[in-house]
Amino acid sequence: MQKLADDLEELRSRACELGASAAKIIDVAGIRTGAWTRMKCQYGCPNYGLSLCCPPYTPGYEQMREFLAEYTKAVLVEYTFPLKEDDHTDFAAADLSMSNGLLDILLALEKEAFFQNHYRAFSLKAGRCRLCAQCNLKKCINPTKARPSLEACGIDVFALANDNGFRMRVITGPIRELKIYGLLLVE
Ligand code: SF4
Repeated sequence: MQKLADDLEELRSRACELGASAAKIIDVAGIRTGAWTRMKCQYGCPNYGLSLCCPPYTPGYEQMREFLAEYTKAVLVEYTFPLKEDDHTDFAAADLSMSNGLLDILLALEKEAFFQNHYRAFSLKAGRCRLCAQCNLKKCINPTKARPSLEACGIDVFALANDNGFRMRVITGPIRELKIYGLLLVE
């Protein structure tokens, strides 16, 4: 048990060294899932069906619950992308940089966890896969790097953040920064 606690703390601290704005060790049992996430993906998201890391290619929330039940501990990673004031931000470019910045951290953590002997370590990232300008829907061309989207698999990302001490809300005013979350399932 002490080894697991030490390993998790090492991974949490490493996430921050690699560029995360914060990282927390969490209990997987508390992660909330819901059927509504798929509805939001399918009706309302312009990216539905455009990435192998999104529906309809990803597992539904019931399969995800089964998968999550095989883990007890995870590291929740927050990544922040600051925006300049009065900047006419190109949100697509910011989203691309933010998405792949977080993915790099998660993949590095997943590898470190594997070498700690947590051979089942697996990461997921909020948002669609941004590794290719256009997803090759027939067969992933970056299979070692692409990881499924949290919400695409039925995870309530707002609850995941807010239940674990972060503050995630719908932005109604000027946008000063973008935040995104990723999850490394460890044990
Ligand atoms: S890496 Fe490319 S081909 Fe693979 S899921 Fe992501 S966008 Fe699609």
